[in-house]
Amino acid sequence: MDVQQAKKELIETAVALRETGLMFRGHHANLSARLSADTMLMTRGGNVANLDEDSFAVIRTDGTVLEGEVMPTQAEIIQMHAAVYRVREAVGGIIHTHAPHATVFALAHEPIPVVYEPLMRFGVTEPTPVIPWAPRGSDASVQGIVEAAKSNSGISAVLLANHGVLAFGKSPAETAQLLATLDEAAELILNARLIGGEKPLPDKAFQQIQERQRAFAKS
Ligand SMILES: [Zn+2]
Repeated sequence: MDVQQAKKELIETAVALRETGLMFRGHHANLSARLSADTMLMTRGGNVANLDEDSFAVIRTDGTVLEGEVMPTQAEIIQMHAAVYRVREAVGGIIHTHAPHATVFALAHEPIPVVYEPLMRFGVTEPTPVIPWAPRGSDASVQGIVEAAKSNSGISAVLLANHGVLAFGKSPAETAQLLATLDEAAELILNARLIGGEKPLPDKAFQQIQERQRAFAKS
């Protein structure tokens, strides 16, 4: 994706996140888009609810800033994004927010189970795990994210214990949709627990969904 296209998509994605309440009341978020195999465009700090052309930096996935000034508060989260691009080649967009319902699970140190079918349509087939707490962007925190992303191919997000969510998908727009669906799942599960708790999907559900998706793609 070229820089202009990536800026446009991230600006639109941030508006969608704000309007759907996924930035929560503090409007805290950081977003990035993959530009090439080893570069990304990332928000450089400041007001994420109203991004403009000047809100971004071009950064190599080894963490080197190539273009644009990254604010000190944002520098610590570079690796949180960069490391995921390094270990997941297919990832094209990453979003970190404090999405209000998914973050409830992060605070409770409880993974979000896969019981909401729409989540499976984003390829999520394993519970969204909780990464043990360490300061945001620290080596320990990033290491936890990398291990989860590498060893669980059926996850597209992680919960950062006592903090929030990091979601990674094919593009910024798709990642926003995934985050919205994950937050819906979290809210619905919390409500289901008021009336006896969520129930599992059948073992073969993911396979059946994939077969149906393939059948529709052909027709
Ligand atoms: Zn945060």
